[in-house]
Amino acid sequence: MLEHKFQLGFFPTPLHKLENLSAKFEDYNIYIKRDDQTGLASGGNKTRKLEYLIQDAIDLGCNTAITSGAQQSNHCRQTAAACAIAGLECHLLLGGEEPEVYDGNLLLSSTLGANIHFTGNNRKGEDKDSLVNQLEKEGKKVYLIPYGGSNLTGAMGFANAIKELKDQLEENQITIDYIFFASSSGGMQGGIHLGKELSGLSSELVPINIDKAETHGLTMEQMVFNIVKEGFEKFGIQKQINIKDIPLNRDYDKDGYGQVTDKERKAISTLAKTEGIILDPVYTGRAFYGMLDMLEKKKLALNSNVLFWHTGGFPAVFKYAQELKLT
Ligand SMILES: *Cc1c(COP(=O)(O)O)cnc(C)c1O
Repeated sequence: MLEHKFQLGFFPTPLHKLENLSAKFEDYNIYIKRDDQTGLASGGNKTRKLEYLIQDAIDLGCNTAITSGAQQSNHCRQTAAACAIAGLECHLLLGGEEPEVYDGNLLLSSTLGANIHFTGNNRKGEDKDSLVNQLEKEGKKVYLIPYGGSNLTGAMGFANAIKELKDQLEENQITIDYIFFASSSGGMQGGIHLGKELSGLSSELVPINIDKAETHGLTMEQMVFNIVKEGFEKFGIQKQINIKDIPLNRDYDKDGYGQVTDKERKAISTLAKTEGIILDPVYTGRAFYGMLDMLEKKKLALNSNVLFWHTGGFPAVFKYAQELKLT
């Protein structure tokens, strides 16, 4: 089931040690998995989900795809690129009003040929029904990609990514004790959870919650749980799962989605200056700050190996130029 996908990226993404950063933390070895380098119109974690979602759209005979997000959505930008490759017409429902100047991800999404609809206060696809009706009236066969690409189909990308990671770890004779990543619509986390069961990877997950708002009335824990439960059924995994088994660190989401503070600035500046790697202000900046904070406070077992999963977001850096004036 994991083999049936439409190729959009270059895999495996690199896995390497952050030597300079590790040298600053004598009790920890820090590694990074580079999903910012998937290769799809500047990369990111949605590439993995879209390989399964686009394949599904093709299997169902669809010629048009719709998805939703914020104006700086990395998911929407990668969806626009995926549709260009697969020859699908792409429609994006983006929160807010149309700006005078398109920049960051919005600029790329429109450059990639997406039809963009601005939806005011709604950035999670609340207005999709009328667009679907309109497109169907025009005779189009529409495929709906959920917010963040987060359903079981999209999550398969990360079930498969765990297989990829496990192979890399074995090849390099590394074990990983903790995996940190930015978690926001649940698809990556659900897929990783499922992939750990399928591949027998024992690393502890430390998902850093990014968006404290609910999605379609569901908490992050519920969204992840629903995907994992459906995945267990699909793959015949007998193990019982309870919503309390879904890990989620909510210590760093208080400032709200897309709000950049000294924390994100510190994380971005630290990784840029020690390793020459750029984090984004919305997701990876926040998650990396969470990891740095826990390392500094020695909240993880001493002498452990820690992995940061870089999920992309590079184009948003330019949109946040004002907030990111780093010192
Ligand atoms: C979407 C996104 C995430 C979160 O992934 P989810 O599967 O939505 O939880 C993390 N980082 C970046 C850069 C993203 O674009």
